[in-house]
Amino acid sequence: MVNENPYRALPSVDSILSDERVHALADGSASAVTEIVREAVELARISVSQGKRPPTEDQIVETVIGIARLAFQPSLRPVINATGVIIHTNLGRAPLSDDAIEAMAAVSRGYSNLEFDLEAGGRGSRFVHLESVLRRLTGTEAAIAVNNNASALLLALSALAQGGEVIISRGQAVEIGGGFRIPDVMLQSKARLVEVGTTNRTYLRDYDAAITENTIALMRVHASNFRVVGFTDSTTIVDLGTLARERDVLLLDDIGSGCLIETPQFGLAPEPTVQESLAAGADLVMFSGDKLLGGPQAGIIVGRADLIDKLRRHPLARAVRMDKASIAGLAATLLHYLRGEALDKVPVWQMISMSLAETEKRTKSIAREIGAPAKAVDGCSMIGGGSLPEEGLASKLVAIEGDGAYLTDLARRLRTGDTAVVGRIERDTLLLDPRTVRKAELKPLATIVKAALAAS
Ligand SMILES: *Cc1c(COP(=O)(O)O)cnc(C)c1O
Repeated sequence: MVNENPYRALPSVDSILSDERVHALADGSASAVTEIVREAVELARISVSQGKRPPTEDQIVETVIGIARLAFQPSLRPVINATGVIIHTNLGRAPLSDDAIEAMAAVSRGYSNLEFDLEAGGRGSRFVHLESVLRRLTGTEAAIAVNNNASALLLALSALAQGGEVIISRGQAVEIGGGFRIPDVMLQSKARLVEVGTTNRTYLRDYDAAITENTIALMRVHASNFRVVGFTDSTTIVDLGTLARERDVLLLDDIGSGCLIETPQFGLAPEPTVQESLAAGADLVMFSGDKLLGGPQAGIIVGRADLIDKLRRHPLARAVRMDKASIAGLAATLLHYLRGEALDKVPVWQMISMSLAETEKRTKSIAREIGAPAKAVDGCSMIGGGSLPEEGLASKLVAIEGDGAYLTDLARRLRTGDTAVVGRIERDTLLLDPRTVRKAELKPLATIVKAALAAS
């Protein structure tokens, strides 16, 4: 027997490239396809070097097609959220209303008056598109919206408090999620953080005692992703407003979620609202666009006109500015509130206000469609997104019981199918909550789960 070189058996890059199926992969992007073919041949060489049999030309072509399928598609794609977490940061936070999506598409497809004054026929400002609706909605003097609430904080502190002191309760110098910490933002803005009180108790007199001639502002940060339970005390925004005025310092209020609707009507704890914060005398109020507000990613700052003006002129304002599509989507979302139709039109509020009876109807219909072993059980949906951390909404869920390995496999199958479905596993049950599933997704959801069960 001759000792054959096994690498010789591997087809050349050129011969793979001339395969009809590889040819059909891409038009005009030959260099990308060549790269993928090289990658596949290299993988084949590696497997040969590990003592495996050389793959056939056909197998390498299959590998090329597999790699190309991933490479030629965006990795960011829609997911059916069956977790029941309404503002799910990892799943993209707030889904948008049809009006918001249409407004975003309309200004993206062509040109717009983003920074063009149609009346005067000359240069305009991108800030005008949101300011008037925010004024009407909240009664604020002025407003600016930026990339997100983290940018809003950074901009406000950099423009107003650089080199000065900002007093904050120790219980509010928090990490908000994903490693985003208030003390670190302060550091970036070159404002000096003065923490007062203790983790669970801060009194008005603690703030009062900490004010010096270097104090620029008192700041409240809504501790949105945790709650100190039990023997606690934190100063109200009204008290802070009074103190700030008395001592002639600013009051900055980061309320986290831009809540414009009273939450107790849905059996939830009250969230701070923009209006009550302004009424209490906050000089600037900051909040996210894509949490309870239900719009696109944004950070909104409302408050005193002279301060907002300083923010607009600060060099960072350009670095953190919003793009036209998000401005259009946010404006359309805010208009729902102005027209009094937010509960009907803003998906986040449709979900929050969905009745238990509706979740039951949906769940029973999905469970029926899937068949055994799916059944309807009592459970709850969560607000999420750092809003109302412990609050649940009673819901009916689709439940599929099984042992750990079986459920892990089933959940993975659901996540990695053509249409990804994400549910949640609690103990020995996979739960699917219809509250966070869009109406048009209900039927596909049932079909996908049924198929995944059949394959498991
Ligand atoms: C979520 C949150 C932020 C960060 O907002 P992004 O819009 O995600 O940048 C800041 N402060 C508070 C209190 C929050 O809850």
